[in-house]
Amino acid sequence: MELSGTKRSKQREKIFQVLKRTTSHPTAEWVYERVREHIPRISLGTVYRNLHILKEQGKIRELDFGEGLRRYDAMVAQHYHFVCEQCGAVKDLDVPQQQDLNVRVQPAVGGHIRTHRLDFYGVCADCMAKE
Ligand SMILES: [Zn+2]
Ligand SMILES: [Zn+2]
Repeated sequence: MELSGTKRSKQREKIFQVLKRTTSHPTAEWVYERVREHIPRISLGTVYRNLHILKEQGKIRELDFGEGLRRYDAMVAQHYHFVCEQCGAVKDLDVPQQQDLNVRVQPAVGGHIRTHRLDFYGVCADCMAKE
């Protein structure tokens, strides 16, 4: 019992480390391929389960850009994303949060706005350079 608990937390820690070392906002499958290099016997289901737990613990964020798959982000502080519609790259945007947006939208809500999400879509610089 004790041993399997340790094993489980080691798997979760490895998954977390893999996610922390990338800024590519990977899918669960990508994380699975990387973790497998260290823990060959791990299953995709275990990776999914641990990603869910890490999300519940607030250590990672789960993102959905309407591509029909979920992506994961170890950067939990609020930030904006850019999604390239050609290559599918998801990038963190180093721009300040528009806090006044909450205030401006507030009247339309009536209640209280705590936070907002903003995703930008277009063509990334790499794809532009290839054209
Ligand atoms: Zn691109
Ligand atoms: Zn991000």
